[in-house]
This record gives sequence, C-alpha cells and structure tokens, in this order.
Amino acid sequence: MEDTIFMKIIRREVPAHIVYEDDETIAFLDAKPNVPGHTLVVPKKWAENIFDVDDATLAAIMRTVRKIAPAVRDAVGAHGVHINSNHGAAAGQIVFHIHFHIIPRHDRSEFEFWPKREYSHDEFAAIAEKIRANIS
Ligand code: 5GP
Repeated sequence: MEDTIFMKIIRREVPAHIVYEDDETIAFLDAKPNVPGHTLVVPKKWAENIFDVDDATLAAIMRTVRKIAPAVRDAVGAHGVHINSNHGAAAGQIVFHIHFHIIPRHDRSEFEFWPKREYSHDEFAAIAEKIRANIS
C-alpha cells in the first residue's frame, strides 16, 4: 500500500519532471495534465489520504502548495489556480498517496464545477447537526 508510484518518483526509480523538493515534500508535473503546468504536491512520508494523514505532514504539504502555487500560475501566464485533492476512490482518488493538484486557470470557461443543489432549511439543519455530531 505504501509503495506507491509517487514513492518511486521520490526515490528516482520512475522519472518525473520535478519542480520542487524539500525534506518533507516533492512537487512534479502531472503525467496527464488537465492543462499545461498541472502540478502535484506529495509528501515524502506516506499517508493514504485526508483520513489518515498526520497534522505535521498535512501542514508540510500545504506549505509547499502555497510556496509553488504562484510559480505554477506565473509560469503559464495564468490568473488563478485550482488546488484540488481527491480522498477515497468514491471521490476519484486513483493514487493512494495523499497529494494536492495545482491546476492553473486562465479563464472561468476552462472548467465545470459540480451541479449545485437546493436544500430546504430543515435539510440544512439536519445535515449540519449530523456533521457536528460526527466531529471527534
Ligand atoms: P488522483 O489520485 O488525484 O485522482 O490522481 C492522481 C494523479 O496522478 C492523476 O492526475 C495522474 O495523471 C497522476 N499520475 C499517476 N501516475 C503518475 C506518474 O507515474 N507520474 C506522474 N507524473 N503523474 C502520475
């Protein structure tokens, strides 16, 4: 489980276009980019996803995301970025080694968000109550 394709990139057993590395994280171009510049930020200490990552590792990931996001944006002349992360197969996670995508965006027309729903007040209240009850 822990010997992911990203571990192989970290160990230089699989080639990647690495753009940044420090003691805790690495960042490299996604092999199948949504757009040019699409970059992944990955911790060197393996965790599967948000459900098992420790706070220090998550903080290290986010430090690197913030450090390189402007460079990704500016390298392709973009105006913003999506910072996206999939957690669990049901959410589209394919590589089970936590990572964040930095995807440059030039224009709002480049992407589609998920459809929005309407909730009644009671549905909002019930869901909010269930979430509050599940926070440990
Ligand atoms: P996710 O798990 O967030 O759905 O997607 C994993 C991402 O990793 C995909 O965007 C995919 O293109 C990328 N990816 C998978 N294998 C490799 C690889 O060997 N090298 C690189 N650079 N990216 C990869």
